[in-house]
Amino acid sequence: TARRRKIVAGNWKMNKTVPEALALVRDLRGLVASLGDTVEVVVAPPFVALQPLHVALEGAPLALAGQNCHWESSGAFTGEISAPMLAELGCAYVIVGHSERRQLFGDTDEQVNKRAKAVRAAGMTPIICVGETLTEREADQTLAVVERQVRGALAGFEAKDVASFVLAYEPVWAIGTGRNATAAQAQEVHAAIRGLLERLYNGETAGQVRIQYGGSVKADNAAELLSQPDVDGALVGGASLKAGDFAAIVKAAT
Ligand code: PEP
Repeated sequence: TARRRKIVAGNWKMNKTVPEALALVRDLRGLVASLGDTVEVVVAPPFVALQPLHVALEGAPLALAGQNCHWESSGAFTGEISAPMLAELGCAYVIVGHSERRQLFGDTDEQVNKRAKAVRAAGMTPIICVGETLTEREADQTLAVVERQVRGALAGFEAKDVASFVLAYEPVWAIGTGRNATAAQAQEVHAAIRGLLERLYNGETAGQVRIQYGGSVKADNAAELLSQPDVDGALVGGASLKAGDFAAIVKAAT
């Protein structure tokens, strides 16, 4: 099987002013400097902090991500941000289909697919989020829901695109709740996603796609989650807002 470089991304959501964002990456940069390059480290700040962070991170081993983007490149879409705009500010990644976008802003699988296509077309890599709600898990729908979301997000993509993509399995009931999936629960779904990728594309491609776990990842549960064979990193919300907490998760991935 392919060796996959682990990827830990911090989703700051709607947190941090520009001065706070600059201070956080300054501290983070110092903390991750000694960890080597076995783990890829990404931060996803609010849009307005991207340009200052792009300048501040020149040459740093920290990649930038947008938290969402529109699927059109430009036009009459008041309040939206396009993928080429994010690429211009140095984003290497864009999160698409986060459960908060799906739940609070009505993102559908089809829209997530269109956003992912725009991200790819702009030369960036989508971090595609999928995950079931508590009701769906309790109804034994987890794998069916995740499969539908993965198929929907990847519709129309070829193996050569998908190989570099990042998927994030984020059970909705674990996000911001302090209740993380167990390592076994995460591994079960990650393995199912990889199996689906093998059926949709081929084994080589499935072996290259990195699948992050997200949902109440903290310094004290990261190592166990990240030790699972199909868990290739973490997408971190709350614990990415403090440099020390986030750096400890990065360290757990080394
Ligand atoms: C997230 O928003 O992607 C997330 C995983 O949040 P938290 O780590 O706070 O559960």
